[in-house]
Amino acid sequence: MPRETGQEGQGRTTLIRENELKICELCGWLNLEVNSECFVCGWHGRFERDREVVHAAVELAVRRYGRLELQHLTDLRTFREPIPLTWRDRLNQFVQNLFARFRPRR
Ligand SMILES: [Zn+2]
Repeated sequence: MPRETGQEGQGRTTLIRENELKICELCGWLNLEVNSECFVCGWHGRFERDREVVHAAVELAVRRYGRLELQHLTDLRTFREPIPLTWRDRLNQFVQNLFARFRPRR
């Protein structure tokens, strides 16, 4: 089970997991794994992904900010949350799975 640092930000319900984080080797700032470059300094070389190190950095950030929010980990102007599936998408998926299951095998 991944440890969750999960808190809800202002109106944001994105859960932040430590295994989705990495640390910029240049400025030492926490970044979301999906960031192609450090949102603070622009570094796009190696990132630290060691679990212990990331965990320590998360603890420090929580101590500093009270809690960890998305704005501490990425540039909100460029961040795109994955679009949640609507019930219609789910229904479509369900029907497609059903058809796939009963499709005759050749
Ligand atoms: Zn950086």
